[in-house]
Amino acid sequence: MRCRMKLNQNYFNVSDSYLFSDIAKKVAAYQAANPQKKVLRLGIGDVTLPLAPAVVAALHSAADEMGRRESFRGYGPEQGYSFLKEAVRGYYDERGIRLDGGEIFISDGAKSDLGNILDIFGQDNVVLIPDPVYPVYVDTNVMAGRKVTYMNATEENGFLPMPDYSVDADIIYLCSPNNPTGAAYSLQQLKEWVDYANAKGAVILYDAAYECFVSEDGLARSIFAVEGAKACAIEFCSFSKMAGFTGTRCGWTVVPEQLAGGKANRMWLRRQTTKFNGVPYIVQRAAEAVFTPDGRRQIAGNINYYMNNARIIARALEELGIWFAGGKNSPYIWLKCPGGMGSWQFFDYLLENAQVVGTPGAGFGRNGEGFFRLTAFGSEEVTREAADRIKRLLLK
Ligand SMILES: *Cc1c(COP(=O)(O)O)cnc(C)c1O
Repeated sequence: MRCRMKLNQNYFNVSDSYLFSDIAKKVAAYQAANPQKKVLRLGIGDVTLPLAPAVVAALHSAADEMGRRESFRGYGPEQGYSFLKEAVRGYYDERGIRLDGGEIFISDGAKSDLGNILDIFGQDNVVLIPDPVYPVYVDTNVMAGRKVTYMNATEENGFLPMPDYSVDADIIYLCSPNNPTGAAYSLQQLKEWVDYANAKGAVILYDAAYECFVSEDGLARSIFAVEGAKACAIEFCSFSKMAGFTGTRCGWTVVPEQLAGGKANRMWLRRQTTKFNGVPYIVQRAAEAVFTPDGRRQIAGNINYYMNNARIIARALEELGIWFAGGKNSPYIWLKCPGGMGSWQFFDYLLENAQVVGTPGAGFGRNGEGFFRLTAFGSEEVTREAADRIKRLLLK
């Protein structure tokens, strides 16, 4: 059959991601050969605790509203209902960050917005992305036909690359606390990035999906806590890791009025009202409940549960004298494979000798080779047993 239409050739340049399917295959093969062994999974990047009771109650009552003629709602504002935008505004306000309702856009999650935001940027921008990092930044730029420049996140810089004035970047991705490394920028370090972006006339796309895990003073939870950031940054955040919304779907993006003289904000509004249908009313009510006193308390309980798991893993690694980042302000622990092992070599070694599954760092970029990610999103019981097995195996 003849084919006149042309496909977007850029998609052929996106590298196939086999990371999680390769892991699944290896685990399945091991389990088939060793059916009596209990395999413990610390590799998943998804939450496991259920939605908080306050969130579930809000879902129920919003569903009831939708079933009554007098409270039924049809199409809503694409950029989000004002009740939720106000709740998000209050969340920033508590930390001394003043936002306008028009600067907050509710979405179905950070991943969608991180990809879609590229609609408002021209083709010929120099894109700067840390390596290793969350693969969505690279893949969405490659799909759009942009060339990507990498900056090295390494053990030497604590996996927190800093600006290099000899590089002229236009679009800079920062993720803090970071997936996969768990490393988190201090406010001072972020100030250096903001100064660099303002000096170059660049934009920082700041992924704050893990901000709620930050517990130490002096570390950034929002880039807008840094002076000058409203002139150069867009912030992406999500209820996914904060409140277990990975299956419920809700997030928000802040596009400040000051960025590009208001043009970026207006363009994003235009983009969203044209191509995005908004988040379901009932989901926005559920997200609103996250910010109520009950919701806040319940969510804090879940975050503490995960952070306790992170401490269990961190303590085991400290006892073993293994270098790692993360664990304190992040649900991820990023460790250096012992004995100079490669990422996949260590994966096999842990699976075969301790029946513990993690994620090889090499799957997140070139600089991830020789490192390994463990997550705190499992149950405390499994986390404790896995930490004990790792200790017994490596304490030889
Ligand atoms: C999980 C995650 C997100 C959240 O994405 P959602 O689409 O909101 O679920 C964003 N960024 C990073 C780095 C993540 O790991």
